[in-house]
Amino acid sequence: MLLSLKSTLGNLLKFVGVFGQRPQVLAFLPAAVLASFWLGGELLLLATALGIPLLLAFADQKEAKGFRPGNRRLEDDLETTLAIARRKAKKTACFMIEIDDHSSILDRFGTAAMTEIMKQTQARIHRVVRTPDRVLALEGYQLAVILAPTRHLDHDTAMKLAARLQASVEDPLTVDSVNVYVSASVGACLGDTLPHPTGEALADATALALADARRHAPSGLRAFTPNLPTIPPCTETLRDDIEAGFENGQFKPWFQPQISTETGRVSGFEALARWEHSSKGMIPPAEFLPALERTGNIERLGQQMLDAALAALKAWDEAGHEVPSVGVNFASDELRNPKLVDRVAWTLDRFDLAPDRLSVEILETVVSTSSDDTISRNIRGLAELGCHIDLDDFGTGHASISSIRRFGVQRLKIDRSFVMKVDRDTDQKDMIAAILLMADRLGLDTVAEGVETAGEHAMLSQLGCGHVQGFGIARPMPFDRTIEWMVSHSAKLQAPPIIGRKTV
Ligand code: C2E
Ligand code: CA
Ligand code: CA
Repeated sequence: MLLSLKSTLGNLLKFVGVFGQRPQVLAFLPAAVLASFWLGGELLLLATALGIPLLLAFADQKEAKGFRPGNRRLEDDLETTLAIARRKAKKTACFMIEIDDHSSILDRFGTAAMTEIMKQTQARIHRVVRTPDRVLALEGYQLAVILAPTRHLDHDTAMKLAARLQASVEDPLTVDSVNVYVSASVGACLGDTLPHPTGEALADATALALADARRHAPSGLRAFTPNLPTIPPCTETLRDDIEAGFENGQFKPWFQPQISTETGRVSGFEALARWEHSSKGMIPPAEFLPALERTGNIERLGQQMLDAALAALKAWDEAGHEVPSVGVNFASDELRNPKLVDRVAWTLDRFDLAPDRLSVEILETVVSTSSDDTISRNIRGLAELGCHIDLDDFGTGHASISSIRRFGVQRLKIDRSFVMKVDRDTDQKDMIAAILLMADRLGLDTVAEGVETAGEHAMLSQLGCGHVQGFGIARPMPFDRTIEWMVSHSAKLQAPPIIGRKTV
């Protein structure tokens, strides 16, 4: 009796929750009150008039106490699905899908477009799954799919479905008549891989698989296994781990080449930080930079990257390889240090390298949002010292033309989101052409990031982009592999392909 009362109340709350999410539905309250009077007299009228507002207030209170509608509903629905699966000796699985790099999509297109992207993505997922499967919107630009219990479901079938979900999200979307390219990472978990499959356990395990997929983003795809790494909280152990990492020289730059589209030769390398952890293996920056930030170690990383990048440049010089410059990423924490320019000047001096051999990469968002005087002074100071200033992730940060001039920016690093499919999509091509035209008129050099295919490379050359960088040329590599790569690259240049280059 008590149980059934609890479940009736629960269902009532769920129903009222729907009202709570759509306040305009409250306009029907007077009609509901009138109808209850006609149907049940004064007593029902009183119950409706008082009951609905009371229930709404109760539902609101529940939400305010951290009741997260989407994610909580997922756990409840999973619980129900697991119970049905158990009863019918069938199997189920949960999938979580998250749009990669949604902060730069938000920066570029705005919240309304992001909402539209999520709506279209959800509709596409609906088309991939079967009618009895459930699709839920979660928080943080995530969606979940719960498979209706089925007899034949194994790891391979689940991963094939995960790949189909991912592919459906990655087809270009049209928002406000502009084509938008998104990629997504997907985590999957089969109910029967868990020792105690409850709704909460299955939701948590799928979230863990998604976190692992995100570590391999863009387009990461991972299934839950019991030995998946959990995200380390910022504990004493993590602090000790980071300290040991610095002491044992585990933070190292990997290098990704940049190629001149005019000559095909190497025009530089970008230094990208890696943590070569003694037990966890290679950790990418997306995973350790936030921990370094929280523990105040960003400047220390910056100095190590600068030292190692300049040492690499010196070694390439000594080995007779022409590498005009090396790019190093400077975080806003570093740019806030009033002694930065002196420190960089002194480091260049120590390696006996001219300042123009160093390209300082600064995010466009830092330039456009910074009202900090020290940051401005440092960027100008580095430019005056003779370093090249590259505006990183250009197109995502709304830097003004006057700030580009004021800071002495020399090159725009065009963000990957503009480069994707530039050879196949006229909108992308027009956007790149407009950026190149602007850069040309302002006397700025350009480099396109994230060039993955020969088609994109050829189109960027044709449009007059100065340099290209991306997996299509080479993935980031440890220093030891750079010389070997340069030897094989110059061998390929013996018979360079002729690509028509247009000046804008
Ligand atoms: P970023 O500066 O925009 O670096 C480019 C990122 O894109 C790198 O990721 C690179 O591996 C990846 N990438 C290069 N080509 C392609 C491609 O063709 N396709 C795709 N999908 N990706 C490509 P990585 O190395 O994981 O670095 C991520 C970010 O971490 C960097 O983005 C940068 O913001 C930050 N970072 C890396 N090293 C450092 C560092 O030493 N200091 C600071 N402050 N930040 C760093
Ligand atoms: Ca960069
Ligand atoms: Ca970038």
